[in-house]
Amino acid sequence: MKPNPDSDVFVSNSKAIVLGKETVCDGHEDGYRLRVVTHAHSDHLYGLKESVRSCDLVISTRETKDLLMALGKREARLLVGVNGGDTIRCGEEKVRLIPVEHILGTAQVLVEREDGLRCLYSSDFKLHGAPVVKCDVLVLDSTYGAPDNVRPKIEEVYSAFLTIVEDALAKGEPVHVFGFIGKVQEVMAFLRRSDVNAPFLVSPRMYRISRIYEKYGFRLGEYYSSDGYIGRKILENDLHVAFFSPLEKHRSNISCVRVELTGWLFKTPCVRKREKEYVISLSGHSDFNQLIEYVDRCRPSYVVTDNARGGSQAVRLAEEIEKRLGIPASPSPR
Ligand SMILES: [Zn+2]
Repeated sequence: MKPNPDSDVFVSNSKAIVLGKETVCDGHEDGYRLRVVTHAHSDHLYGLKESVRSCDLVISTRETKDLLMALGKREARLLVGVNGGDTIRCGEEKVRLIPVEHILGTAQVLVEREDGLRCLYSSDFKLHGAPVVKCDVLVLDSTYGAPDNVRPKIEEVYSAFLTIVEDALAKGEPVHVFGFIGKVQEVMAFLRRSDVNAPFLVSPRMYRISRIYEKYGFRLGEYYSSDGYIGRKILENDLHVAFFSPLEKHRSNISCVRVELTGWLFKTPCVRKREKEYVISLSGHSDFNQLIEYVDRCRPSYVVTDNARGGSQAVRLAEEIEKRLGIPASPSPR
């Protein structure tokens, strides 16, 4: 089935991913009956209040609903949590949530429509373990869509991170790590698997998120909220590894080694900014090469690059997809 390039699959000005007559993802548009929340990051929650008020149904995976509750989103109570892999029907559309690696609970969304088109929204995803979903139209995350947005191998990144943490602890220096939700829990679990046994401290928000990760099987070992009695004592007196969101930087002013986790460092696993301050190249997103490889695997007839989120690389990515794969592509919204 050939999709029409001016088709009704697009990203609206309100940042909703429109996949059919009934279904939108990650933003609100009037007139659509089903809203899907693909994961709990804030740039995928636009217009959630309006959606719970006016859509027939708002769904996410159970994990995403739990994370949103832990983040204190009031609308989350009105979400219907479904299992990853479940298909639901809305009018003539069959909508499937396909689990993918990003943060806990993330799902891609495939809509099989009355007109025969299979329309897929990639959401944010890591290529590793991503399923190949044959589709006609693909709406693609474009955060790292510029050709020089290429990261080193994940093993090199983890190895650099572990060396920094182990060296600091061996010298009696606490380590403070800054990263977004999901990425932080991923490195907490990694450090435990690597036998780092120092107590962990997390901000109160990170604490609530970490509890949800544990509910779904992540092993994070011993950790405390930095605003609790034990947490404060450890922070002031003991060797520890602490984890905060990048927006919580002000919270730590004790002498420590600081590590920032960012997707915006390319081609090298790690940079030392100054004494006791490092940046690590760690992202929950696919890099440029992985985005191209993913499109090549799914082989859609048409690609829409998301021009409403991330680093505004959607125009460049669409050009590169056409050039390298010969698949027509365009950014949306234009
Ligand atoms: Zn995300």
